Amino acid sequence: MLELLAFNEKMAELGKMAAGVVHELNTPLSVIVSATQMILREEGLSDFVREMVDRINLEANRLAELTKGVLTFTRREGGGGEETDVNQVMREVLAFLRYEAQKRSIAILEDLDFRLPYIAAEANRIKQIFINLVMNAIQAMGHSGKLFLRSSRGPESTVMVQITDTGMGIPAEIVEHLFTPFFTTKGPGEGTGLGLYVTKRLLDAIGGTIAVQSAVGEGTTFTLTFPVAE
Ligand code: ADP
Repeated sequence: MLELLAFNEKMAELGKMAAGVVHELNTPLSVIVSATQMILREEGLSDFVREMVDRINLEANRLAELTKGVLTFTRREGGGGEETDVNQVMREVLAFLRYEAQKRSIAILEDLDFRLPYIAAEANRIKQIFINLVMNAIQAMGHSGKLFLRSSRGPESTVMVQITDTGMGIPAEIVEHLFTPFFTTKGPGEGTGLGLYVTKRLLDAIGGTIAVQSAVGEGTTFTLTFPVAE
């Protein structure tokens, strides 16, 4: 028993150290992300420079996402009490990913209900959930498609958000593995297999749910529910 206690303490200590290192990585990473975005907005770049800067931007974005995932696990749950407007967060995420969608000729169609109540969750966590799902949707569509974003009242005291893509779809035998850590069908260096796992953990922590509906060759819908704030 004592040994177990000592072990737990060591793990907690390790967790804190990891959180510290990851936290330190966050700032330089966001500088790289915004600097590369600014370069990409310039006109007259050679194809080579554009492609290389684009790759730096993508990888830095991925790293930034990964560090956020680690931070969520290592940080202690706060006192809570924060209330969030899902539409507002969705808009921020879209502002961030619109360029990526445009580049791939993906149309974004929004059907947001602006009379929705606030939900009981931290905006940053909701943002992370939306970024994970919208990035996956964009990647599933490749170089053309439609991304639908809907928000509405859900069953009982919930707010519902649906993210639908017209991408490749997910075969039935894979669906059950989606939320397993490190499960990915993307090539090395492209996917970590942590996005949906982190998403599910975040939703569990706030009493939300996630469900997936998909048809191969047609597309995928992720349906989320969030508990309404008191
Ligand atoms: P990653 O994106 O790093 O692979 P995720 O946990 O976010 O990790 O996703 C796991 C897998 O689920 C992906 O590799 C992909 O096969 C599948 N997936 C997730 N979202 C979609 C989607 N919208 N359309 C098709 N497949 C998807």
